[in-house]
Parts: sequence; C-alpha cells; structure tokens
Amino acid sequence: MSSVRVEVMDGDFNRALASSLSVLLDKGIVDALVIPQESPHGLAIHQTLVRKREGLKSPRPINLLMANNAARFLQELSEADPGARVAAVLRPCELRAAVELVKLNQINRASMFFIGVDCHGTMKPRAYEKRAAEIKREGRDPSAELIGKDEPESQRETCRACERFWPLEGTADLVVAHIGLDPFKELFIEAHSDAGAGALRALTEAGYREAVVPEARRSTIQERLARVAEFRKGWLEEARNKFGSLDALLSTLSGCVRCYNCRDACPICYCKECVFDAEFMEPSPRHTLRRAGRKGLLRLPQDTLLFHLTRLNHMATSCVGCGMCEEACPQEIPVALLFIPLGERVQRLFDYVPGRDPREPLPLATFKEKELEEVGGE
Ligand code: SF4
Ligand code: SF4
Ligand code: SF4
Repeated sequence: MSSVRVEVMDGDFNRALASSLSVLLDKGIVDALVIPQESPHGLAIHQTLVRKREGLKSPRPINLLMANNAARFLQELSEADPGARVAAVLRPCELRAAVELVKLNQINRASMFFIGVDCHGTMKPRAYEKRAAEIKREGRDPSAELIGKDEPESQRETCRACERFWPLEGTADLVVAHIGLDPFKELFIEAHSDAGAGALRALTEAGYREAVVPEARRSTIQERLARVAEFRKGWLEEARNKFGSLDALLSTLSGCVRCYNCRDACPICYCKECVFDAEFMEPSPRHTLRRAGRKGLLRLPQDTLLFHLTRLNHMATSCVGCGMCEEACPQEIPVALLFIPLGERVQRLFDYVPGRDPREPLPLATFKEKELEEVGGE
C-alpha cells in the first residue's frame, strides 16, 4: 500500500494535515471537503463544508470531540448527481456508518471521497468544553494538548469500549495514520483505493515524499485492543444489569421523555419519514382516554418502550457503536449501552460487522435458505 509522510512543523498536526488535504481541493481532485473545525470561541468543534482553501480557518481533523456523526451530513449532501465530488474526513465509526449508508442507498459513493482518520477516542462534550476553556486560558490549543495526554478515564464509555478505532482496510480512499506514532512530528497518508492512489500522486507532485507507515502503529493498536477488552468486561456487565431483564429495561428507560433526540442523532436511523412521525401512529384522544380507562392510568408520553424496541429492531444489524444516541439524550439514559451490545449480538449471528466491507451484503437484505435455522438458543 503506498503512502506519503506529512511533516509537522511546530507541533501543529492539524494545520499540517489540513494543508495536505487542501492540495486535493487546489488540484480539483475533490470539489468540497467536510472537515471538523474549531468554533470561533474555541470551546467546541463542528463539522464544516469547505470549498476553498481559505475556508480552512481552524481545522481540527484530529480532535477529541465528536458533536455529530458526520455520516449524517454526507447523507444530506448526497444525490444521484450533486454536481460536485465531496471529500469527508471521518473517524472510524463515521466511516463505517457512511459505508452502511452507501449499502442502504442513502449515500452516493461515486460522488464521495472518504478520508478515514485514526481515532484517539472522544470526550463528553461538556467535559471537553470545561477542559478546553482551562487550556485556552493558558493560551494553548486544546486539541493538541488533549491528544498529547493519554487520559482514557476522561473519554466517553463507548470510545473506551470501541474495538475498531482505526479505519478498516478497503473502506476509505485515503487513511491518515497516526496512532502509536508521534503526530507532533509526522503523520502518514495511505492510499486505500484507486481514487486514493490518484490523490496520493497529486500529493507527491506537490512535494510530499513517499514513506512507509512505521510498524509502531500496528503494535500500539494491539496494545490498545487489550485495554479495550479489559474495559469491555465491566461495560458489558453494566449492560446486563441495566437491560438484562424486562424489569431492568423498564426501569432504565423509565426517564425517557420520547423527545426522539437519540433517533435524530443516529446516523443509521436514516428514514426520511419515521414511522413514529406518521399520522397513523398518533393516537386519537378517544383512543388514549380508552386506554387509560382500561388500565386505570396511562403513562405519558405513551409507548416509550415500543419506540425503543422498534428502533432496535430497525437498526441492530447496522449499529456502528458511535454512541451519538446516548450523547443526545437530555435524560442521560444510557441508550448506547442498550443498542451497542445488543446490536453486536445480532451482528454476530450473521457474522456481520457494519461498515467492515463495502462488498459485504446487508444481513436480511437477501433471503438465505440456510440461515438462522435454530430457533431460540442463547
Ligand atoms: S466510537 Fe470508536 S471510532 Fe468512534 S469516536 Fe469513539 S473511539 Fe473513535
Ligand atoms: S433521547 Fe433519551 S429521552 Fe429522548 S427519546 Fe431517546 S432515550 Fe428517550
Ligand atoms: S444506535 Fe447509537 S451507537 Fe448505534 S449507530 Fe445509532 S447513534 Fe450510533
């Protein structure tokens, strides 16, 4: 696999990476770039859509804050012929969600260029904001400062439990490799497709030199996977306690106000018309009063359990474990702790990993005679 080395000056790896990516814009290899940038006050990081190099004002392609799963925006930018090729800098869980959305015909892969980036994990937005404010007060860059420190305890639990924190082979066009390396000195960009190889040629013409990604990346990934495995034992136990029986499930979900934030933040919940917004799902006053009459009392809003079970049913095979549903919940309900382990169990049944391989068909999309022959079981 061919790759180039990006030399980092003054420790500013984000500026160095953005500068290399802007070559793709300058040379017309892509027409637009979806890339995270720091907000003007410096306490948040948002996705931005950049069409000119000057738009890269405060790029943070490597950062510790994920406010949204960017695959959602790619869906919004996708149509049969949008008239522009859009490149997107994506974390591994965003990249995997994008691959799933391509399979679900929600993203037009031909008009996209995926740039996968190794991920250090991300913090809860409020925790990030607090730390960023402290670091900013001392005149330093929160992204650089926080990436430089290995603080797993400050990360979101879904990130600590994440087993795929690097872009999987063959899913992106380019991969930015930096785990286990020294991003304050150098980054590496690898080509993972023909389109990626073309982009790499443009980078070498622009003066970037070819180089091999150091072996340290692979060994660091293995070490981190061992830490993840250790963390997952307690995490899965917590999932069993919170959701392992009907009583536990009802109790954990009891604070749900059915605001639909979890659905709206989920990259895989893509339906333009959700069944829960459909008119036929709106109970008439007469029906609601009848239900209350039958039981003596009715919890309002109604059908929170039905909402979660329906969503689980719709997306268990494609949940990529990004945890955005949980971050969006105003009631702090650990919805990701319900969806991720349960999704993984369903995915194991089909030997399927969402976003692992663009050629792998979606489970349940095709009928297989020799599938799920056992009823019941574990
Ligand atoms: S879930 Fe994984 S890929 Fe996504 S932000 Fe967390 S560590 Fe990164
Ligand atoms: S975000 Fe939280 S409160 Fe809102 S519907 Fe989802 S679980 Fe319920
Ligand atoms: S259910 Fe939650 S963890 Fe799974 S893809 Fe959707 S937002 Fe991410």
